Amino acid sequence: MYPNRFLLLLLVFSSSVWACDFEQVQFASDFPTGRLSQCEATPQGRYLLTLKPEDKDINPSPWYHFSVYAEKQSTIPVALVVKGYAPRYMPKYSTDGNSWQALPFDTNNGQVQFNVPVPAGKKVYIAAQPPITNADYKAWTQSLTKATPGLEVSLLGQSKQGRDILVLTKQQPDNHEWLVILGRQHPPEITGAQALMDFSERMLEDSALTKQFLDRFNVLWIPNINPDGVAAGNWRHTTDSQDLNRDWVKFSQPESRLVRDKLKSISAAGGKIAFALDFHSTYYDVFYTMPDGYSIAPVAFTEQWLNDLQAYTNGMFKVSVKPGSNPDNGVFKQFIADTYKVPSVTYEMGDNTPREKIRYIAGAAAQTLMRSLLSYTPDEYDYKEQ
Ligand SMILES: [Zn+2]
Repeated sequence: MYPNRFLLLLLVFSSSVWACDFEQVQFASDFPTGRLSQCEATPQGRYLLTLKPEDKDINPSPWYHFSVYAEKQSTIPVALVVKGYAPRYMPKYSTDGNSWQALPFDTNNGQVQFNVPVPAGKKVYIAAQPPITNADYKAWTQSLTKATPGLEVSLLGQSKQGRDILVLTKQQPDNHEWLVILGRQHPPEITGAQALMDFSERMLEDSALTKQFLDRFNVLWIPNINPDGVAAGNWRHTTDSQDLNRDWVKFSQPESRLVRDKLKSISAAGGKIAFALDFHSTYYDVFYTMPDGYSIAPVAFTEQWLNDLQAYTNGMFKVSVKPGSNPDNGVFKQFIADTYKVPSVTYEMGDNTPREKIRYIAGAAAQTLMRSLLSYTPDEYDYKEQ
């Protein structure tokens, strides 16, 4: 009927295409965080959309984000195809790119199938998760600094592709202990990115506890360490094919080197890195910690904090803890523990944890962490060789 509807569109040298044009419908990913690899129309009228990772042998986080356009009002049947990997993210739909809703879907023959309602002549968007773009971080950073006296934003340096990596600092001249907060090593991990924002906002709100906390501790945020991967819609890596959260031993990437050097300069100026949190997403809510008895101080800090968090939530949230240590693996948490001899935690939000629950957990985690950090004396953060 329409010969070009049966064309297989291929762009083999790239893992992402800009556009797939068919007679009735156009798919495109020509915008930041956009991602779509290959399109094919079947004789049955369904559009097969293939997702491919940026590199081989990668963590299965098939990110997608594309627009759908049709001249006529229509319902477009699509199927996501992820060869060699399990699909992970349930499809979200938006008519404006800002507010998102989950779409009904089914799985069949390894495909994720769903229908996309498209109004006449107006693009709609499909994404793995409601995207948080580099521009969103910039807007968030600006609104937070505007609302928070003494919160400063500065340029840490540039990513491999020359994008700005920003740091936020809240410090007072007499404080010397630092809390470090890192985010977005892995581009598709949106619930973790959201948790970082919620957590930070709670830590900066006007309250007796935050005042007491910020009167003693400085805070350093690197909310978006992988802006190249975010812009590219990568599943995991930097655009230099590296997993940043395996780079904290070899430091092959400018992004990890910038953070390493910033922490070094804080130490060199007499500052004390006291604790670090690194925000991610995985299949469920979990805190990755350093094991009991690891050479850090205060040795029982993380256990106490997470017990306090469990008590605070009174059963509304089940705190899951997974201790682990692998000195050669290049994970940020381990880098902090091994370099500064203090506790560090990877804060993982579930992919499907609801928006309000992410905010609730982040608020509870921030409250209890501030109390826990205050409950130890400065001396207790100094690890003493046994
Ligand atoms: Zn991650």
